[in-house]
Amino acid sequence: MEYYSKQISDLIGELSSLPGVGSKSAQRIAFHILNMPKDRASSLASAISNARENVKFCKTCFTLTDQDICPICSSNKRNKKVIMVVEDTRDLVAYEKVGKYEGVYHVLNGTMNPMQGIGPNDIRLKELFERLEGDVDEVIIATNSTTEGEATAMYITKLIKPTGIKVSRIASGVPVGGDLECIDEVTLLRALEGRKEL
Ligand code: ZN
Repeated sequence: MEYYSKQISDLIGELSSLPGVGSKSAQRIAFHILNMPKDRASSLASAISNARENVKFCKTCFTLTDQDICPICSSNKRNKKVIMVVEDTRDLVAYEKVGKYEGVYHVLNGTMNPMQGIGPNDIRLKELFERLEGDVDEVIIATNSTTEGEATAMYITKLIKPTGIKVSRIASGVPVGGDLECIDEVTLLRALEGRKEL
């Protein structure tokens, strides 16, 4: 038996499919939305659809952005000769919040994970190596310290080494298994400054 009318159930259903939202939270959020002024609810709905419609990958670094080339790649204040490799846009944002990094990024949008059948061709590695054909001095590998993050870092290092480009790995101040975005800014800065050449 349905306790809620169809449109309320649909809203709760959609919300409960989001990560970290259980059925209780979904009901709470649904009722919060139903009690909002109509214009606030519409701007929430259009923020979701606009973001989904217009956000794409930067053509250079593959971060998520609403422009063809993201603001970091198009800035003339950033050092294009230093590229930091991160797993996703959230990691990029974590480093940007530290505010001390002046290079650019390359966002892999994943890590290699043989158990799940994710190989080098399933993440943006080919695009990274295309960028390295340009004028690049250093690649800083800042994948997470998970098994997959470490395996990806090793794979990239092996391929870059012969090119003579300097490769470094962020320091192990970042806890093993740690998700970069959950780590505080001081730890991230230390990890960046204490990076070791491989
Ligand atoms: Zn970019």
